[in-house]
Amino acid sequence: NGQTQQTDVIIVGAGPVGLFAVFECGMVRLNCHVVDVLDDAGGQCTALYPEKPIYDIPGFPRIEAAELIVRLKAQAAAFRPVYHLGEQVQSLEPRTGGFWRLTTSKGTVLQAKAVIIAAGVGAFGPNRPPLPGIEAYEGKSVFYYVTQRETFRGKRIVIAGGGDTAVDWALSLAEIAGRVSVIHRRDRFRAAPDSEARLKALAKEGRIDLVVPYQLHGLEGDNGQLTSVTVATLDGQTKRIEADVLLPFFGLSMSLGPIADWGLALERNQIEVDPATAATTKAGIFGVGDVVTYPGKLKLILTGFAEAAIAARSAYALIHPETPLHFEYSTTSGVPDA
Ligand code: FAD
Repeated sequence: NGQTQQTDVIIVGAGPVGLFAVFECGMVRLNCHVVDVLDDAGGQCTALYPEKPIYDIPGFPRIEAAELIVRLKAQAAAFRPVYHLGEQVQSLEPRTGGFWRLTTSKGTVLQAKAVIIAAGVGAFGPNRPPLPGIEAYEGKSVFYYVTQRETFRGKRIVIAGGGDTAVDWALSLAEIAGRVSVIHRRDRFRAAPDSEARLKALAKEGRIDLVVPYQLHGLEGDNGQLTSVTVATLDGQTKRIEADVLLPFFGLSMSLGPIADWGLALERNQIEVDPATAATTKAGIFGVGDVVTYPGKLKLILTGFAEAAIAARSAYALIHPETPLHFEYSTTSGVPDA
């Protein structure tokens, strides 16, 4: 900390696209440092849907999101990237000699000629219900994501929310939980009609408790372990539900955070890039993946991978203007042993 670390390319975001950008930069012999605010690499795949299968990755008829990230990390590892995880990028300032200097929330200072922004939907976090003292339970008995369904076997689970995530997890966890209660402030859900119908059918059979129209009101417990959740109607009638676990699913708040202040052209919170080069409106700063927009942009992992290949070549041209890149296939140029 404090000391400036020099590299060829700084990649902001270790989601699937940022990870593949490490590989593509490596293929043109550029070294990378990667910064991510989350403690684990993988972006949305790791944080939002690790156990969900993905069907549109070329060559994989079906792959779980977490498995895709394991493989992308392994593929990138050959080029020895340096990860700075749990750090949010803060400032980005131009330096002499065409360098950019990036500072993170932990005081890490990185310097490079090229920056590839792969910040996805931005730094994302759950929308927290405004319940006093909820922080004490978070990560122990209040969870905003389900990363391992099995840990909830036999538990009394309260799920709050009315969207697809709430309904899908209610249906799934009903198979293994001791009890599932679903709290929603209205009788109607914002979920796929099929799923809502299945939820209501399970409620009729008595396999799920539908607690509507109620809102979360308070928590009781000890040392981070919940014992009950109190819910209330709009006119203040309350009810106590005994519970081991609360899963509030109120969507995510996503924000570009400090990146929005870097002076790049934005369109509805996305960075405008030239799809031919992945260049933003500032020389040396490139954008790839979900964070960028251009006419015809598809927000898919597949598209982000291709953008990463383009950005790496653009970064190479910027860093080595005197030696034009000799195009090679990976089979010819080879990859060092990881
Ligand atoms: P992200 O995955 O969003 O990663 C961005 C990373 O940048 C994050 O780790 C974030 O923490 C980090 N970051 C952001 N801001 C900062 C900052 N200021 N400082 C430090 N780090 C920062 N796509 C498909 O192609 N096929 C599918 O089947 C599919 N299914 C999906 C299912 C679900 C439920 C969801 C939510 C998405 C799905 N997607 C699918 C979309 C896919 O996940 C995204 O297109 C993909 O994750 C984009 O990758 P990315 O690397 O651009 O961004």
